[in-house]
Order: sequence, then C-alpha cells, then structure tokens
Amino acid sequence: MGNVSQKVFSVMHYVANKVQRPAVVLLYHRVTTLQQDPQELSVTPANFNAQLTHLASDYHVLDADRFLYHVKNKKPFPERSVFITFDDGYADNYHEALPLLTKHEVPALFYITTSKINTNYELWWDDLERILLTDGNLPPELHITINGQSWQYATGTLTAIRQTYYALQQVLRFCKPAMIESAMEQLYEWSGKDANGRASHRLMTWEEVKAMGGANYATIGCHTHRHPAVGMLSYEEQYTEIGMSKEILEGALGTPQEHFSYPFGGRKFLGSKRYYNADSIKACKALGLQLVTANYYGQVHTWSNPYALPRILVRDWPIDVFRRHMQQFFKY
Ligand SMILES: [Zn+2]
Repeated sequence: MGNVSQKVFSVMHYVANKVQRPAVVLLYHRVTTLQQDPQELSVTPANFNAQLTHLASDYHVLDADRFLYHVKNKKPFPERSVFITFDDGYADNYHEALPLLTKHEVPALFYITTSKINTNYELWWDDLERILLTDGNLPPELHITINGQSWQYATGTLTAIRQTYYALQQVLRFCKPAMIESAMEQLYEWSGKDANGRASHRLMTWEEVKAMGGANYATIGCHTHRHPAVGMLSYEEQYTEIGMSKEILEGALGTPQEHFSYPFGGRKFLGSKRYYNADSIKACKALGLQLVTANYYGQVHTWSNPYALPRILVRDWPIDVFRRHMQQFFKY
C-alpha cells in the first residue's frame, strides 16, 4: 500500500472512530517461548502477562457472548472495548495462555483447526520450518512439483534456505489441502526427515480442547478442518472445510458452534489469489455461524460486516510498545 492510500485509509478510520466508539479485535496465535519464530506468531508468556495486566486495567475486554450481542444487535460498544482471539489451536493456548487469562480474569475466544488434533503432525507452515530451518543437512537444490508445476529452489546456503522457506510459504498458502500434502510428502523425501512433529509445535489434544471449552475465560470457535485459504476453493469445498470443523467441534464439545475465523484471513491478494470471498460468507451463513473474523487492519463498528470483521495482529511487543499500539488502534 502506497503512502497516499495509507493516509486516506488512516483518515477514514479516524473519522469512523470519531463518529462511533469502536471495538478492537486482537489476534494472537501462540503464547510461549520458541527457539525461532520466523512467522512472528508467538508472544512470550512474560509479554502476554504484561499485555493482559494493561488490558484488564485500562480496557473493557468483552467475552464472546457479549461481543456477539453488540455485533448482532448493532449496539454501540462500551468505551475502549477489546475482544481477544486466538487462531489455530496450539497446545500452548491451553497450557500457557489460559492460566494467564484466568489469573487476570480476561476472556478470549480460541478458533480451532480440527484435522491434526490428537496427532503428532504439525501445521504445514511449522512443518516447513522444521524441515528447512532446523538442524540437518539438506541437499543443495530442491526440485518440487506443486499443483502440476515444477519449481526449483536453491538450498545450498543458509540465506538460500531462508529465501526458499519464505517463497514456499507464499506458494503453499494459496494451494488446496491435497496439493499441500503432496508438497510436504516431497519435502519429507527430499530432506530425509519424517512427518513426526515437534512437541513445541503440537496442537491441543481433544482432552485439552474439551477442558478449554469448559473453562471460565475461554470460548471455542471453528477455523476449518485443514486450514486452507478458503477463497481458493469452490463453494462446495468451502462449505465442507468450514462445516467439518464445526461438526467435529460440536460433536466433541456438545455445544453449538457460532464462531469462525478465516485461515490467513487477509484482504490483500495477488491476481486471482484470495484468502476468502463472497462464497466464504455465503457458506458461513448457510452453516449457521454467527460471527466471523478475518485478519486485516481495522476497528469494529455497528455497521461492520459480522461475516468478515477486521482483527489486529499482536506481535511479541513489550508493554510500552503494546500500550502505544493500543492507543493507536482506537484512534485510526
Ligand atoms: Zn490460522
């Protein structure tokens, strides 16, 4: 986004937030300490603890029911309303984030990807990191076929490997689940590493998901079965991917699922690449989902579309940086 449009964008947000008090939806993925975090998705427990202290004292953190009530009934939010969400369903959400949320009496919503629960397989972007960026001798070149197309990547130096990792991330995130699986199979074969994942990157077990669902400061939501960019799928495929995670979670938890977040969820796209589209919204409505969040910068107002609400990604910010960002989020 260029400078001029960035300014216009900021002015629009500023005016909207002056017209009506907004709510801000925060997006987290992980609360833990990792050796490396190339996607920058993890917040350390110390920083998360400090962030929660600040939110609990200076903001109005709504739980999922309350947030849904305001969005559905188009009721303006209380001053400085914040809604906390987590994507993907990592085990640390239960072991590290939930105890801190409980301690601060701050609620959050956890969107769960269902296909790898109770397995020791990692989500594909973590798997890609494990294969390319952790110890092991890799061949100097990678030849891989993705979606019928041949790709060649240099993997002879650490810099080349890192570039290959980021390049593959970009390609695979717009592929259908079967193509991602096929690419991963080729990568296991090529690297000599198998599909068994790391304990540090595992997802919650069913036992943990159920305990999370029963916890005072947690609500469970859906995040598809296999985490594809649903905008790349047909309507029927989208309906199945989203519907499967909903059905599986309802079966396990025994409660109706109303919440969903789009995998990746960005509004930016290249050419025909989409993280979600009009069919995604149609599928969510047909499945009876009530509140759906995306992943693009913005604030929530009574006029926001409840099937593609903006969320703001939180990084591993120390408290002074977090405090500054929060002030900014409410302005524009
Ligand atoms: Zn996700």
